Amino acid sequence: GPTQAHNFLQSLNPAQLQAVQHDPNIPLQILAGPGSGKTKVLTSRIAHLIIHHLLPPSSICAVTFTKKTANEMRERLTKLIGKERTSQVRMGTFHALCALYLRKHALHVGIKGNFTICDTEEGKKIISSLLKERKDYMVSNDIEIQPGNLQSKISKFKARGLSAEDVLTMTPAVHPNEHNTVLVLDRLIAELYSGYQGKLKKNNSLDFDDLLVVGLKLFSGHRKAVSWCRHILVDEFQDTNFTQYELMRAIGVARRVTIVGDPDQSIYGWRAAEVANLEKMQRHFPGTEQIFLEQNYRSTGSILKLSLAIVSQDKNRIPKTLLSSHPSGITPVLRQCNNESHEASFIAMEIKRVMAHMGGALRWGDFAVLLRFNALSRAIESALQKEGIPHRILGGHRFFERLEIKDILAYLQLVDNSSFGPAFTRAVNVPSRGIGEKTLGELFTGADAMVITPLELVERICDAKVPDIKPAVKRKLSPFVAAIRCLREETNKGVLPSALIRKLLKLIDYQEHLHKTQPEWETRWENVQELITFASDVQGSMLTDVHLPPGEEAEYTPLRLFLQASMLSSEGDEQNEEGNLNKVSISTCHAAKGLEWPVVIIPAAEEGTFPFHRSEDIAEERRLLYVACTRAKGLLYLLNVAERKIAGNLMERSLSYFVSHVIKEDETVLTLDDLCTFPKGERTTLCQVLERPEPPEEEVRMRVEGFYESARNRRPFGHEFDAEAASITRAMQQHSFGPARHEIE
Ligand code: ATP
Ligand code: MG
Repeated sequence: GPTQAHNFLQSLNPAQLQAVQHDPNIPLQILAGPGSGKTKVLTSRIAHLIIHHLLPPSSICAVTFTKKTANEMRERLTKLIGKERTSQVRMGTFHALCALYLRKHALHVGIKGNFTICDTEEGKKIISSLLKERKDYMVSNDIEIQPGNLQSKISKFKARGLSAEDVLTMTPAVHPNEHNTVLVLDRLIAELYSGYQGKLKKNNSLDFDDLLVVGLKLFSGHRKAVSWCRHILVDEFQDTNFTQYELMRAIGVARRVTIVGDPDQSIYGWRAAEVANLEKMQRHFPGTEQIFLEQNYRSTGSILKLSLAIVSQDKNRIPKTLLSSHPSGITPVLRQCNNESHEASFIAMEIKRVMAHMGGALRWGDFAVLLRFNALSRAIESALQKEGIPHRILGGHRFFERLEIKDILAYLQLVDNSSFGPAFTRAVNVPSRGIGEKTLGELFTGADAMVITPLELVERICDAKVPDIKPAVKRKLSPFVAAIRCLREETNKGVLPSALIRKLLKLIDYQEHLHKTQPEWETRWENVQELITFASDVQGSMLTDVHLPPGEEAEYTPLRLFLQASMLSSEGDEQNEEGNLNKVSISTCHAAKGLEWPVVIIPAAEEGTFPFHRSEDIAEERRLLYVACTRAKGLLYLLNVAERKIAGNLMERSLSYFVSHVIKEDETVLTLDDLCTFPKGERTTLCQVLERPEPPEEEVRMRVEGFYESARNRRPFGHEFDAEAASITRAMQQHSFGPARHEIE
């Protein structure tokens, strides 16, 4: 009712309120810096559309960049309009939205409703096999193509809306004696792209990019599929690519479109995102209005100041105002460590130290370590492990990419879609059944010849309907066929995925298989149990979270929904586990987009890593560092090392010029002496910024003493850090000296 509406509008500033109340019929761009409440405004606008403009929740489409932000938005919205209505809002990533409607309307775009989503790893295998087929041709033309490179090329074609046919047309066939390598290469890539699509089709499968491409085809060609939508809202618009932008146009009927974005945070140019979509939108939607938000609510003054100083080095950037709502707080800490293991143990100890000084006002989940790329995480993970600090990798070693998870999923994928070759290849030897590569090849060729799937062929062999391709195959694969058939029957009986997995584990004695083949079998077995939990979560949320449009539920078997949820989880973020809330997050800077933490630590803020030496776009690297810094609410660390081992070689490193250029030259990097302080005043400020009660003095004292006691006894910094051990002792004696200020220009 109106009181509810009144309440949530009250927490907005005038510009935010204007954006929320903006006429839904006039296209709107909300442009603003980090932490200015863009996502909050978007969420409030959805609530306002429902409460004030009386739009049915199910007529609103909200697109987020990651599943994690979708979950956050869902939580915020639930607080505003309740669970019931929130669940009806069509909310998720472009991928999830497309997948949802593709199942229902598959036939309109020439695919089958039971398609399997092919993950990046399997896609890469398909590409490798295609490259192998063309090996001789490539050698004779002196061409080399890495599977990963080709995969990202294909992905970029799709991001730009170019189909394999388009690319083939653009690159004329070359004469066998053609010597122009560029022409030969371009044509070959086009042919490989086309070959890849052919393989996917044969497997009744779409890769992640296809979800968007085919989704666009559906929404633009078959308007009925989107007739429900009366308003579309898109978060992080600056990172949409061509295809995503076109999807927005196709879903957003009429002119009821709201986007929020920040050109300063565009960090996906390398994946063909186009900031120019902001201007494009103004052309396609004449009369688009813009609202700017200028108040940052997230970070302390000094964090904001440093972040703005970093991004302002870009001379081509359009300057904009971003005012802090908080006191300056603790100056961002710059620190040089000797090497990566020193850096890693510094991070672990510093997290513990800050926890102690905050006397219980912070928990593990309040810390994030943001990396330029995943490979930097190894040393840090082991340091945290050693110190007993619970942590998790956001979008890193993805749960659904683990071998034990893929083993289980392969069986279920086969039950749902017997054409999916990668699942067959995998499942056939889980547990090992002695089917070698050669036999597998023969099964695939044999199946091709009969125009059936390899699974069907094996079934016929086991039923003695066709002769065995060699004597032992039937014997070896009978248990496999029996297992699949049993799962199929159970599925048809309506058995839910969680029970199906349990059944499968027994059928193939999977625990025994792990035990025999995997040194870390216990952890892997736990992951399998985790998968069962995930399955029951999906089952439980089926009616609320998945927003199946009424009447469309029939297209989704529980199994299919579960498989889809697994695949879309691995797309970049992990499942929503309660336990993860109190763990230190380790994440790439990219995956941290849109999120915030009280304490953010950025290791390897050094030349060669930030900007990354392989990157072609320095300005994008700088924006990435800006995104990373602006995730911090109260404390920010920028670390670098003097020497880092890179690909086995020890390299000298120095502080990133993104940072060194904005700090005054006459000041040196903070030393541990400076760091070993945490004056009471700063604690008070931090608690205010985080809106948390200040801990009792006695509690702080106890924890701090406990920390220094254990730090001194265990000498965690190793003998080469005696000086540090000494200054820790000194700091114990005098808790009260203030940190040296690191003035920012
Ligand atoms: P980013 O660009 O990083 O995605 P954003 O602009 O989307 O940032 P939000 O995540 O929506 O920003 O908001 C940042 C923080 O500021 C959140 O914790 C939010 O609750 C808070 N916030 C936003 N607006 C206000 C306000 N008017 N009053 C108090 N807090 C606010
Ligand atoms: Mg946001």
